[in-house]
Amino acid sequence: MLQVETVRGPIPLAQLGTVLMHEHVFVLSEDLRRNCPQLWQEEDQIANAVGRLRELKAVGVDTIVDPTVLGLGRDIELVVRVNAEVDINIVAATGLYTYHDLPFFLHYQGPGTLLGGEDMLVGLFVKDITEGIAGTGIKAAFLKCAIEDTLSPGVERVMVAVAEAHKRTGAPITVHTNPTYRTGLVAQEIFKREGVDLGNVVIGHSGDTTDLAYLHELIDNGSYVGMDRFGLDAMLPSDARIATVAALAEQGFSERMVLAHDASCHVDWFPPGIREVAAPNWHYTFIHTTVIPALTQAGVTDEQLTTMLVDNPRRYFSR
Ligand SMILES: [Zn+2]
Repeated sequence: MLQVETVRGPIPLAQLGTVLMHEHVFVLSEDLRRNCPQLWQEEDQIANAVGRLRELKAVGVDTIVDPTVLGLGRDIELVVRVNAEVDINIVAATGLYTYHDLPFFLHYQGPGTLLGGEDMLVGLFVKDITEGIAGTGIKAAFLKCAIEDTLSPGVERVMVAVAEAHKRTGAPITVHTNPTYRTGLVAQEIFKREGVDLGNVVIGHSGDTTDLAYLHELIDNGSYVGMDRFGLDAMLPSDARIATVAALAEQGFSERMVLAHDASCHVDWFPPGIREVAAPNWHYTFIHTTVIPALTQAGVTDEQLTTMLVDNPRRYFSR
């Protein structure tokens, strides 16, 4: 397929341009937002998001790939409202985000449960990709799931459903992992077992480690590694993240890396104002204002930067 679905409709792959491969617009706790509206100033949040995304476009980013799915409060109508006021491509996802347990709507139905039967997740994911999200006609272009420290039965069930939806649609996969527990390798094992070509998978948050041996292993298995938390210095300082990307680029692996911040305009997991204090660099424009010059300084060529920011995303979405 020579085009990719975005919130504003399908576009030619070439129009993806410069891509940040893992940025959220909003990460919300939907129960909380519905029931405690004092915690969610919608008009302010929309205006803030428009401003932030305009800044991102102004530094040269054409597309963000937004892995916000069930469990992260995906609300495509909110993203539509933001995107109507800013000229940037936003690629939407489908999937389910959990580190351990499944939400209750999956507890009693589906494989290994009281009622058994097929996993409804597969149908939900496929519908988002082929027909559109929540009746909007906006199609998800990729699949998202997560594994944190261990492969719980719930995490495995989501991964298997994601693999099945991938096989039915060809939509590529992004998986949240935690390199401390080397769970990128576990995700690869499950996807491989389920018949997924690992070249269609981004192992997200691989940039949270400087362990080159681990990163080589992920790359040798065929996946992209997501060097996708620039600015989250409390988890790993920027200097270490930059040195790791530069080392892999020098070893010839720029074709296997994608870049991002994993930032958002608003995430209700943290108290208001804490990001500015605890993680001042964790925002959309940090890569273009600070990381790219530092990578260049560290010997990464313009060609390698283009590979990571333009060519790899385009290849990932080609199917
Ligand atoms: Zn994320």
